[in-house]
Amino acid sequence: MSAIRRSLLAPWRLFLLGVLLAGSAGAQTVTVYSARNEQLIKPLFDAYTQETGTQIQILTDKEGPLLERLKAEGAKTPADVLITVDAGNLWQASQMGLLRSIKSPVLNANIPANLRDPKGEWYGLSVRARTIIYNKKAVNPANLSTYEALAGPEWKGKLCLRTSKKVYNQSLVATMIATLGEKQTEQVVRGWVANLATEVFPDDNALIKAVAAGQCEVGIVNTYYLARQLEKDPNLPVGLFWANQKARGVHVNISGAGVTRHAPNAVGGQKLIEWLSAGKAQEIYTDKDFEYPANPQIKPDSIISQWGAFRMDLINVSRAGELQAAATRLMDRAGYR
Ligand code: FE
Repeated sequence: MSAIRRSLLAPWRLFLLGVLLAGSAGAQTVTVYSARNEQLIKPLFDAYTQETGTQIQILTDKEGPLLERLKAEGAKTPADVLITVDAGNLWQASQMGLLRSIKSPVLNANIPANLRDPKGEWYGLSVRARTIIYNKKAVNPANLSTYEALAGPEWKGKLCLRTSKKVYNQSLVATMIATLGEKQTEQVVRGWVANLATEVFPDDNALIKAVAAGQCEVGIVNTYYLARQLEKDPNLPVGLFWANQKARGVHVNISGAGVTRHAPNAVGGQKLIEWLSAGKAQEIYTDKDFEYPANPQIKPDSIISQWGAFRMDLINVSRAGELQAAATRLMDRAGYR
């Protein structure tokens, strides 16, 4: 008995065991920390495992705790990949030194330059457009044009907005600062606040319902929320208008991913992100979550195709992160709660 135990623990056997474990775990498993809920990413990962044999371990949580966890784990982290929504969050992760720069001709070919980090630390995988919606019975879309125009006196008492605490609005206002400057952006935001029909909403869904009910005539939301509601009720009297098409284009943000600074399996992590940027994965993003593919070669073919093509603001989405604090201060000054 003791002889057996001794021989099992012989140093060369331990060494061999280590090599075997490292070989199988290293090459066959990728660990992902995700701020996107499991419901959306699981079908993607299942398809990846089926295609490549690579197992994926997922840990989901909100952005804040995930970033703190990565920071606390440091070099001991099991995470290879960080997935989150909003460039502001990815920018934050990059600022905290949690991501590594990767060189990927595949990602550079699949993902347009405005949707990825100039340093290669993160890459957009789906596009989320934030635009104007209107009540079809009350508004002639010919009278709509830009986000800025919603600050005009003709919309007094007719505009609905989601809270400024949500990163989506912080990113929208941040990119406005980048384009229009602080002064003009503040005038616009003050105009919005003056035009509010009611208190700001806690989420986009409640806002869409208020527009449908006629409580407000116009609002600003991410398009996938409207797609989800239209899927349930195709007769919802809410129209979508692509904002700012004559100039800079509609505000877009991303969901995206990066390889972590201390990834035990950085190669596997990069391969996963590359896979997510093309083909079947890009179709799943569109069809299951009604977001737009980040890869322009993939065409949306779900309910969202009815809204047609649109011009997107080509400002690099990382600017939304850089100017997020300035945007928050500006909205606060302007009384946007
Ligand atoms: Fe959302």
